[in-house]
Amino acid sequence: MNYLRAVLNSDQKNEKIHLQDLVKIGKKLNKNTTTYEKELEKLASNNQPIQKIDKVQKIDKIKKIEPLKKEPEYKNSTYNIDNVFVKDNQIIIDFKHYLKKDYIKFIEEKRGNKYLDIFDFNGRFKDASPTVLKMNGVDRIKIFQYKYRKIRIELIHRKNLKTIYIIGKKRIIIKVLDIKESKSNVTAVKTLLNKNKVIVIDSGHGGKDSGAVGDKKRYEKNTVFAVSKYLYNDLKKRGYRVYLTRNKDRFIQVKNRTVLANRKKADIFISIHANAAPKSVRAKARGIETYFLSPARSARAKRVAALENSSDMNAMSNNSQNTFLTILNQSKITSSQKLGIDVQQHLLYSARKKYKDVVDGGVREGPFWVLVGAQMPSILIEIGYITHKEEGRRLFVKSYQKTLAKGIADGIDAYFAKNQ
Ligand SMILES: [Zn+2]
Repeated sequence: MNYLRAVLNSDQKNEKIHLQDLVKIGKKLNKNTTTYEKELEKLASNNQPIQKIDKVQKIDKIKKIEPLKKEPEYKNSTYNIDNVFVKDNQIIIDFKHYLKKDYIKFIEEKRGNKYLDIFDFNGRFKDASPTVLKMNGVDRIKIFQYKYRKIRIELIHRKNLKTIYIIGKKRIIIKVLDIKESKSNVTAVKTLLNKNKVIVIDSGHGGKDSGAVGDKKRYEKNTVFAVSKYLYNDLKKRGYRVYLTRNKDRFIQVKNRTVLANRKKADIFISIHANAAPKSVRAKARGIETYFLSPARSARAKRVAALENSSDMNAMSNNSQNTFLTILNQSKITSSQKLGIDVQQHLLYSARKKYKDVVDGGVREGPFWVLVGAQMPSILIEIGYITHKEEGRRLFVKSYQKTLAKGIADGIDAYFAKNQ
């Protein structure tokens, strides 16, 4: 492939002068210069006679027998960025160690008639002096050591190009879209992007808590578990990293359901339930509803929430419930609503392919305690009324359960396509 390598050879002499300057200036300004002094020491030890290097190598060999630590090479080197280069319409940054999600920060700016896409990485690169990379369609790509441990890549263009980034194991790829890209490439990018998205599916109720009960002892916990499993498999096939809060028919306290999602740093949390109507309206109540967490407004939301919130949560006084809800993060509410809209739309579309008369219950807000602990956009889906004679029956038809799962997965795809 035709690409330009932007890497220059390491220049220890210049590096040493640079560091010595930093220490000198730092001391004048009464700044802490120990980091730079340590780097200088490292450089000095690299220049030891050959015999000493021999000893170092022997120690390295012994070290290799030990199990690999998480960031093995990082500790032995000042530079954790190995290589930066352009290949077709992508800028590729190779690291010497495994990456975390927060290794990259993205900023968009407009200066005059020019657009700037700025990417900051945690890291240090051998070539500290500003370097220019070239890519067709982009006016200028600049890479430089922005801070001591921050490297910056700036893309300057006049066409308001779309850039996306993909975090791999040891590699970050910045991809510039809209530069003559075929459809197949876009699909490949999408799958790659999905690999970084973490989804936690919460299958409602379980164990001693059967949830709502319909005709012929149809339990909510069973249908929602079946749909959750189908959804799990569907999302995995699409490249997502997926986790289930329960793998079998077991009881989990409401407050513990979001723990997994927070621990896995999930991007979204999806709780799946089936609805129940009071006797007086049982014959009529049917349809699919999607809820996102917010202080309840309507009586309907309050009623559904009361059904789904477990007894341990209902014990909380009205006052403390309100306090909880007022500290909700507004941006999370907005993202949750967006997710809810996409999921509801695709879920309904999919369900109606099987049964034309499925009712749209809409996207609603409600005080669902299962969603309170989640630190990410989260929704609760009521896949239908288990208490409705016909809908209750359908909820246990396998092909319909699969159709519902596909609809939810399509909605999730749509959400991530718009909200990377
Ligand atoms: Zn439920």
